[in-house]
Amino acid sequence: MNSTPTVGAVPGDEPGPPHPMLVIISGPSGVGKDTIIAALQERRHLPPYHYVVTCTTRARRHGEIDAVSYNFLTVEQFLAIRDAGELLEANEVHGNWYGTPRAGVRSALARRQHAILKIDVQGAQVIKGLVPDALLIFVVPPSLETLFHHLRDRRTESDEQLEVRQRNAAIELARKDDYDYVVLNEEDRVDHTAERIEAIITHEERRESRRPVTV
Ligand code: 5GP
Repeated sequence: MNSTPTVGAVPGDEPGPPHPMLVIISGPSGVGKDTIIAALQERRHLPPYHYVVTCTTRARRHGEIDAVSYNFLTVEQFLAIRDAGELLEANEVHGNWYGTPRAGVRSALARRQHAILKIDVQGAQVIKGLVPDALLIFVVPPSLETLFHHLRDRRTESDEQLEVRQRNAAIELARKDDYDYVVLNEEDRVDHTAERIEAIITHEERRESRRPVTV
């Protein structure tokens, strides 16, 4: 049988967006980025969003899965792949290394899927410098009290780490104006937040001036 590959086809033969985007979601620790991204993926946008699993040297938390939550690496492994040019950006956040694998972004874009990245404010600026068309979305909490309450409640950090993350929250929130969109994640309204982000993506993917992204 003749199996001519269909250029640009995606699973299920749904046409992908003409120019898939790099969508960056940032926000302070505890604002709910993981829950929002999970809700976004449940919304069944076609083709599905591709969440790019990033690399970190931080210790794995209870319930986290290697290669799903993060690619958990030693500092030596991390620095080796960074020095080999395999990371689009790398940054030290809250005392650990984090970095975006170039291959993960490339393969999503090649499949004509929007690549979703959950990265910090500095990483977002590095990517915006490399890919000016990247879409930058910043998620804010209703208040610092709510944010700190969530951060304490999830019990994933030591007291010392908690303090670092709380201190960094104010620094990160001060950078929200560097973003294309700021979205409020109201208490117990994660579906509403995901809906709002999907509306932004839908609006942006239709923009006439959108150009192909290369990384
Ligand atoms: P956590 O340790 O809570 O999972 O993540 C800490 C911070 O690192 C969050 O702000 C998260 O968005 C950011 N982060 C995760 N992956 C990357 C990455 O690949 N690059 C950068 N720059 N930040 C990342």
